[in-house]
Amino acid sequence: MKIAGNVGLRDLPRICPLISRKVQNSADTTETRVVQVGPVRFGDTRPVVIAGPCAVESREQTLAVARAVKAAGAEMLRGGAFKPRTSPHDFQGLGVEGLKILREASRETGLPVVTEVMDPRLVETVGEYADMLQIGSRNMQNYPLLVEAGRSGKPVLLKRGMAASLCEWLGAAEYVAKEGNLEIVLCERGIKAFPAGEYSRNVLDLNVIPAVKEETFLPVIVDPSHATGVASMIEGASCAAIQYGSHGLIIEVACDDEGSVKPKCDAAQAINPATLARIVRFVTSHTESKAMRKAHAF
Ligand code: PEP
Ligand code: MN
Repeated sequence: MKIAGNVGLRDLPRICPLISRKVQNSADTTETRVVQVGPVRFGDTRPVVIAGPCAVESREQTLAVARAVKAAGAEMLRGGAFKPRTSPHDFQGLGVEGLKILREASRETGLPVVTEVMDPRLVETVGEYADMLQIGSRNMQNYPLLVEAGRSGKPVLLKRGMAASLCEWLGAAEYVAKEGNLEIVLCERGIKAFPAGEYSRNVLDLNVIPAVKEETFLPVIVDPSHATGVASMIEGASCAAIQYGSHGLIIEVACDDEGSVKPKCDAAQAINPATLARIVRFVTSHTESKAMRKAHAF
């Protein structure tokens, strides 16, 4: 029986020829495309750790978290200035003011910034302040937004929709690629599947990492924060993702020293800088032992 709109992996070369490893096979098919954001290289031998607050809530909070994640060894700063919230009554982000704060934090720490853009009309503005545009889970299939992000020429962090198949996710990446922009990093952030919500926010689909690598040459990273929604699960999920071949992590962090204010957004999944430092050490030792195994071929 044929079902309209039903696509599977076999359709990928047709859906997304520009990013398909099977179509674009002139390059060494074992290679991942390196996506560069300033000095940061996604898809290279060392996984990239992005960290920062869920939302930019104030200048003090953002600068404190930026300094802390830099000291913990993160290579890039995250933070939402435009927040997609379930309730329109909840904190929506500081908007352009938040972008300015992120820029300041980036200048001071030297960390490039990734931040979410939700509206195609704001791609240019967000691009003036950010080094990389984040397209969030809720907007993965916002096609006008994908087209604008593609036209911006900026590197794009494309999060997987919370109920998106691999075909839908890579189809969304193809919209960016079709505008001539191959600077795309994919991000698995947990999917809605049973028993999501019972003991974790979402279900972290680590199995998708090797599947992504088989279908496309684009790098893929993991967001353990939104995938679990539970601070105590982040370290384990991060290490598992790295061992499963993720090209990086994007993690929400909050400062926990005296006087720090509890985050307005996603407080339950924020880890402290000390936990982030342990994750970075794991990434470093994993990268070194992998390089050693390669050098000695064991
Ligand atoms: C975020 O990273 O700030 C975010 C809102 O994540 P997601 O789009 O994956 O829910
Ligand atoms: Mn968040």
